[in-house]
Amino acid sequence: MTERIEDREYSERRREMVEQIRRYGLKDTRVLDAFQRVERHRFFNDADRGYAYDDCAFPIGCGQTISQPFTVAYMTAMLVERCPSGKVLEIGTGSGYQAAILDYLGYRVFTVERVPELYRRASKIFDTLGLDIHQHLGDGTLGWSGHAPYDGILVTAGAPEAPHSLLEQLADKGVMVIPVGDSAGQKMTVIIREGSSFDRETFHAFAFVPLIGQEGWRGE
Ligand code: SAM
Repeated sequence: MTERIEDREYSERRREMVEQIRRYGLKDTRVLDAFQRVERHRFFNDADRGYAYDDCAFPIGCGQTISQPFTVAYMTAMLVERCPSGKVLEIGTGSGYQAAILDYLGYRVFTVERVPELYRRASKIFDTLGLDIHQHLGDGTLGWSGHAPYDGILVTAGAPEAPHSLLEQLADKGVMVIPVGDSAGQKMTVIIREGSSFDRETFHAFAFVPLIGQEGWRGE
């Protein structure tokens, strides 16, 4: 198959993915446009690209996953609605797809990953796509203090509770989106900083891989 036919086919499959996200109830046109434009298959290994637009999470190696498209869209919409622009810290770079969506939406993106192999894999993809995304290898439960405060923080792994270090690195009126719960499931939680207090609201249930670190779950 030539590159051009492949591109056309992927573009059609992206349209179907966006339709599925819309059917699930997500209507934010800014977010839907980003999902149509960012080429999700670029974040998959060559052999797995055929699965890139399926309606499910997919393994990316090292026991980790790229989240289901709707999950990424849901978290993104939670952020966009409350924090439409500014500086965003993502915890859990994984494949790099969520970071690329945030970049497309015009945020300044900082992202932290704890697994060196995934950090390097994402770095190569960002370079290939020419994306100006700032990456850090380390324990994301401690945030990335050098660039704080952040207008938004998106945690893409399941946490026992919102890490203190991340709350501290949130700007005033800043918004954190984080799945909070245990291994049986997590509730998507939105935390908004108001000076020294933090307003919380919980939403739907999801199942994420665990946030492992000093202020998260204990690792292997
Ligand atoms: N956002 C990713 C994407 O777009 O592909 C998906 C993230 S995957 C569901 C969760 C990621 O969080 C994994 O890559 C995992 O290694 C990472 N992770 C878990 N605990 C972490 C921590 N303390 N700091 C940084 N990354 C962490």
